Amino acid sequence: MSKLRYERPVIMKLETGMPNKFGTRTEYQPMTHIDGVAVNSLIKEYGSPLFVISEQTIRNTIKKARRAFENRYPKVQFAWSYKTNYLNAVCSIFHQEGSWAEVVSGFEYDKAISLGVDGRKIIFNGPDKSEEDLTKAINNDSLIHIDHLDELYSITELTEKLNKRPRVAIRVNMDTGVYPMWDRFGFNYENGQAWDALNKIMQSGKMELVGLHSHIGTFMLSPFAYGIAAAKLAELALAVEAKFNHEIKYIDMGGGFASKNTLKGAFLPGSDTNPSFDDFAEAISSALINSNFKKDKLPLLILETGRALVDEAGYLLGSVISNKRSSTGRRNTILDIGVNILFTAFWYDHKITPAQSFTQYTEDTCLYGPLCMNIDVVRESTNLPLLNKGEHVVIHNVGAYNMTQWMQFITLRPNVVLIDPDEKPHLIRSKESLENMNGMEKVPSHLAKFNK
Ligand SMILES: *Cc1c(COP(=O)(O)O)cnc(C)c1O
Repeated sequence: MSKLRYERPVIMKLETGMPNKFGTRTEYQPMTHIDGVAVNSLIKEYGSPLFVISEQTIRNTIKKARRAFENRYPKVQFAWSYKTNYLNAVCSIFHQEGSWAEVVSGFEYDKAISLGVDGRKIIFNGPDKSEEDLTKAINNDSLIHIDHLDELYSITELTEKLNKRPRVAIRVNMDTGVYPMWDRFGFNYENGQAWDALNKIMQSGKMELVGLHSHIGTFMLSPFAYGIAAAKLAELALAVEAKFNHEIKYIDMGGGFASKNTLKGAFLPGSDTNPSFDDFAEAISSALINSNFKKDKLPLLILETGRALVDEAGYLLGSVISNKRSSTGRRNTILDIGVNILFTAFWYDHKITPAQSFTQYTEDTCLYGPLCMNIDVVRESTNLPLLNKGEHVVIHNVGAYNMTQWMQFITLRPNVVLIDPDEKPHLIRSKESLENMNGMEKVPSHLAKFNK
């Protein structure tokens, strides 16, 4: 056996906080307070994990959005997309700021009515409206956006039964240059379905055709796509006017504007790169103004913006359960926040900030949730300083969809707190209890007994 060659030992400098393939660290400051309220005291009072919503941020954001559109177009109306966040307190802020309600189910419709929204200011979207839902919407004079021909015929039947003339629009899908195309909802523009539906409505004379609707996608990063959609809707409206001498009162551009979140796989943070309200407003209003509407005949522009109005206002606070090393030596930190309450972790790299001061040294860390499931990953890789057991983190931009798509899975859903503009916290949704859950269940009598 030959002697192994001597190799000189080398000392390699460990680079902490350097960019890895997921970019550099972005968290340089702890987030100790939200709107003036200490994160520590919020967790102490309301528990961990905890959703926190900033009322001031919602109000600032909707004002910014309104300004962007109202500066460019004479008639603008926002309608709050309930499915994005239908906590009553959140909806009420939007309604106080002048937004109508945009709902996509009978449940959401009832929720808007129970909050006291005027039926005439509810836009009813979606493919599943039962006869009962439609009857309610017709009796309340709501705006019904027809999704398919079966719905059109149901409404036609109901007009006779109820002796009413419902206000309707159709949802139009189209090629906007963004693929895959969203063509499962509404009537297609290019193949003539939309024109066919409009003719059927106008010919029947039983409904009041008031608008045209589209919702071209979600987390859209291209304002130009909205420009194309607006131009196509304008063309349809003008064709109806030319053929039937009937004026379309509004064009509803739906929602889908990207929020400030960062999509997985994006190299730069969404807060730096995603289009602003001004970019979307410019594309949409230019398309409408440049179309052939007469100056005094421009339709009302309705926007159903959801995520871009509420994402930034939502925070999720949590605590560290444990740190451990993976088989390859990577740091794994387990949080008490699971993907059952942070659904959006599946498509965003959420910004995560420690809630207390920390050292300057960071390490590539994987953040896991507490669920006993392999998919429960909050961040696959992020540069963070060491977080000790019991310390807290703040997850940013979680206001959209998490509080509607959350799942009750092996734990109970947490409290939700709203911080008002005077920096006062209010509990707006109580955490669930075992009694809540058991209250919905029934055990048949033959299963009631077993040997203890
Ligand atoms: C979901 C939805 C919205 C809101 O979409 P965001 O991506 O949250 O802006 C608006 N309109 C309709 C019809 C929707 O289905």
